[in-house]
Amino acid sequence: MARQPLAALDGTDFDVVVVGGGVNGASAARELAEAGYGVLVVDKGDFGSGASSRSSRLLHCGLRYLAPGRSIFDFVRHPGRFRAALRMAKLAMEARSEFVKASPDRAVAMKLHFPIYRDGPYKGWQVDAAFRLLHALGPKDLPLDYERLGPAEIAKAPLIRGLRDQDKLAGVARFREYQFDWPERVCVDAVLDAERAGATARNHTRAALSRPGPDGAWTVELTDMREQAAPVSVRTKSVVVMAGVWMDGLLKGAAPQAGRKIFGTKGCHIVVQLPEECRGLGVATLNSRGEPFYCIPWKHLHYFGPTETEYRDDPDRVFVDDAECDFLLAEANRLLPALGLTRADVRFTWAGVRPLTYDEAVPFGNRSRVLHDLSHDGLPNAFAMTAGPVMTHRSAGREVVAAVAHKLQPGRAAGRADAATHRANDCLAHAETLADVLFRRTGEAWSGPFDDALIARAATEAGSLLGWDEDRTRREIAAYRDEVEAIFRPGTRTIDAWSKAPAA
Ligand SMILES: Cc1cc2nc3c(=O)[nH]c(=O)nc-3n(C[C@H](O)[C@H](O)[C@H](O)COP(=O)(O)OP(=O)(O)OC[C@H]3O[C@@H](n4cnc5c(N)ncnc54)[C@H](O)[C@@H]3O)c2cc1C
Repeated sequence: MARQPLAALDGTDFDVVVVGGGVNGASAARELAEAGYGVLVVDKGDFGSGASSRSSRLLHCGLRYLAPGRSIFDFVRHPGRFRAALRMAKLAMEARSEFVKASPDRAVAMKLHFPIYRDGPYKGWQVDAAFRLLHALGPKDLPLDYERLGPAEIAKAPLIRGLRDQDKLAGVARFREYQFDWPERVCVDAVLDAERAGATARNHTRAALSRPGPDGAWTVELTDMREQAAPVSVRTKSVVVMAGVWMDGLLKGAAPQAGRKIFGTKGCHIVVQLPEECRGLGVATLNSRGEPFYCIPWKHLHYFGPTETEYRDDPDRVFVDDAECDFLLAEANRLLPALGLTRADVRFTWAGVRPLTYDEAVPFGNRSRVLHDLSHDGLPNAFAMTAGPVMTHRSAGREVVAAVAHKLQPGRAAGRADAATHRANDCLAHAETLADVLFRRTGEAWSGPFDDALIARAATEAGSLLGWDEDRTRREIAAYRDEVEAIFRPGTRTIDAWSKAPAA
């Protein structure tokens, strides 16, 4: 179904415009629409194509907040950090339970293993205590299945019997962890829920903010990123900026004096194929720098990552470079030396930028989710969120509604979308490109490798549903190949080389 021209929106009034349809913007749009607000949500790319599409996809239980790689005594020296860690761990446990219950079809369980080394930063009793704390903090309806494995069990267990330095291993903590399969579709589903509750949603549409008028009302300029057409304007009483790493540039347009909100850190992953017996099994550990590091099952493959480095370059062009790939290979081989992984084993890679909260007191970015009231930056009736992970997106949406409600009453009665009915019908809703279809509507792109015949077949099938002629189908295939190259690794290894990789 062809989408309406952007001009149809010109001059329309909304209660709230949500800028950014990543997981937090989509969730905020859903909650606001269900609370009775008149909502417009826009994304300059596809819904879910920002950081939400580049994460490690872990719906983790919060262990990493309690075991961030530093000695446990760091918390004794900095009680504020311990309080923040407890808050994030509690949010994580609540989010895990809420999401798995609400969207069981989008959550995949795995067995995650945390090796406890005698010379490591954590003792076995500390790991036991951390899990007891997680259990106490969170809802009791979704078990952690926590157990500690001794040497005899480790020696027999797939994947972990290959862990390094078995003689220094005091034990392995095993627990049930979940991952999102997959976050982009979680974003699309939330946008569809918002629409069913009355919101207007438009992807491939960039918003620009100008200073609000004396009455506090905003004019938001919208530009269609796919059609050559004049920008249009909509009016709104309130603006919610969920623009991730693009936020600071957007806010400067409306208020040059606005303080910095974002500290971006880059995270990289490499994808490899491990033996069949490792399916559904993963490892959570610390890398040689003491940072959280994972080996996670992903469909029929596994990935290793992430990294964490400050990122100041173009947020629209983020990829794993050779040095980062080699670093991850070295860390993977340090963790599981028997694998002997080389670059030839890397099926594909991906990277993203975390929109952490800029905080002068935390030099490497604050991981605590913050909803900024932008009236402090001279922008009334406006909010912006930083450092909201995928896993807490539902509570992030509710936090936005609570903040907006302080300033503005909804125009309609509240009403929940009946989410169950739309999923099957709306498989390709708002899909404009082949990349929208394969990355964010069906998730097929994440299975790699990328066989030409499969891409052509997918393009023909999607094209028949979306009304593409032969020329459009050809252009979509070319554009998709470009996007795959850009996301999975440009330069060093072309899509043709990937498609010749042995099939799974
Ligand atoms: C490497 C890595 C690993 C991670 N691992 C995990 C994990 O395991 N678990 C977890 O829960 N979280 C994880 N995260 C964090 C998580 O991915 C992000 O915090 C989260 O996705 C942020 O969502 P968001 O909606 O705030 O931002 P985004 O998803 O970036 O969405 C912002 C959107 O705003 C749009 N936008 C920007 N400017 C404009 C404009 N002017 N007009 C219209 N639209 C605009 C963008 O196109 C984008 O789609 C990870 C992140 C990274 C990078």
